[in-house]
Amino acid sequence: MAFSVENLVSAFKAFTEEIGKNREYLTDLDAKIGDGDHGSNMARGTKAALEKLEAAEPKTYAEFGKTVGMGLVSSVGGASGPLYGTFFLRFGAAGGDAEELDLAGFAKAFRAGVEGVVARGKAQAGDKTMLDALFPAADALDAGSDLGSALKKAQEAAEAGRDATEPMVAHKGRASYLGERSAGTIDPGSASATMLVSALASA
Ligand code: ADP
Ligand code: MG
Ligand code: MG
Repeated sequence: MAFSVENLVSAFKAFTEEIGKNREYLTDLDAKIGDGDHGSNMARGTKAALEKLEAAEPKTYAEFGKTVGMGLVSSVGGASGPLYGTFFLRFGAAGGDAEELDLAGFAKAFRAGVEGVVARGKAQAGDKTMLDALFPAADALDAGSDLGSALKKAQEAAEAGRDATEPMVAHKGRASYLGERSAGTIDPGSASATMLVSALASA
């Protein structure tokens, strides 16, 4: 079994729909510990990227990543735009000319995307960011033995990582301005990142 560019496009479509449905939820989380725009940022960004994707009809991982990454970077003003944009650019670049990847290749591309977020935002595990969902998902993909079940495990790992951000004190992003008062709310970016992993798992 392999993960094709066609699968990526349908996963991104599912991600966009899920973000649309959860726009208020994401905004409410961000209203508690940030500036209340994560839902609208992500809805605008995914919609713009999906439109570009549908026009570009990418054939390779690299084309997919570039189209989505640039779409997000150019349409989202907040921190999440460049961070997700970098994820997709690095993910695609790691997949390169491939039209499909097996589990090992997919896990490597996903890890490259996550490392891109680290390079861009300089956050670590436990800082209460999207990385607290993305790191455990990348670990689950690395540890997997077949694509389908590894993706399912990655989704569960992301969900657990997202839930674990609730008691955390934020050390990066706007939520960090609140110090101790950032504890008690799930990090909005970890919630949207879990939707991404879940969309990949359902593709
Ligand atoms: P902004 O904070 O600019 O309003 P968003 O609300 O769209 O942008 O996104 C906020 C999310 O971005 C946070 O919930 C967090 O998950 C993520 N984030 C912020 N800073 C970083 C960082 N340095 N590294 C990784 N993720 C970050
Ligand atoms: Mg915000
Ligand atoms: Mg903002």
